[in-house]
Amino acid sequence: MKDYALIIVDMLYDFIDGSMACRNAKEAVNETVAFIDGKTAPESEGDDENAIFGQFPILFICDHHPADHCSFKENGGIWPAHCVAGTRGSAVHDRLTPYVSEELTFYKGCDSSREQYSGWEGVNKAGQSVEEILDLMDINDVYVCGIATEYCVRSTAEDMLKAGKNVTVIEKALAYVDHEGHLKALEEMRSEGMEII
Ligand SMILES: [Zn+2]
Repeated sequence: MKDYALIIVDMLYDFIDGSMACRNAKEAVNETVAFIDGKTAPESEGDDENAIFGQFPILFICDHHPADHCSFKENGGIWPAHCVAGTRGSAVHDRLTPYVSEELTFYKGCDSSREQYSGWEGVNKAGQSVEEILDLMDINDVYVCGIATEYCVRSTAEDMLKAGKNVTVIEKALAYVDHEGHLKALEEMRSEGMEII
């Protein structure tokens, strides 16, 4: 097993029990914790210097909007207001906060005029992208989980695949807007070359 990173997409309260609560969200959080605890994760043989928590680095992708974001219905978009910076809805679920580090937290959707589903477009507080950080750590294998399968998970995973990463999606650790849409997205992601476990 090569060294790998876990990418957690949008496990934020508004997508779990808030304005855009998704199906399977609580189970997805539990499954993510199980993966981190090593109950379901493959063993890593990478050196631990770059791992923030035990055996592998954990990257958090966070939707992080200003109140006047263009994706909100009140501003002409298609979604209810969500993940407004500084609110509970924009916070990572409590069960995952022990694994959060500033360097490995990437914010997207911060510009009011741009929608960003993909975590690949996010940056950390120092302005570094996910790609820069993965390159620094020399990591080519990523495991992806989060919310929602059909939107931000898919978009993030596809951008990583396009960038040449080996992408594995953890099915049980996903939440979704619509079950049919979730299954269809998984099928398409598999056909694009991702592994679904
Ligand atoms: Zn958003």
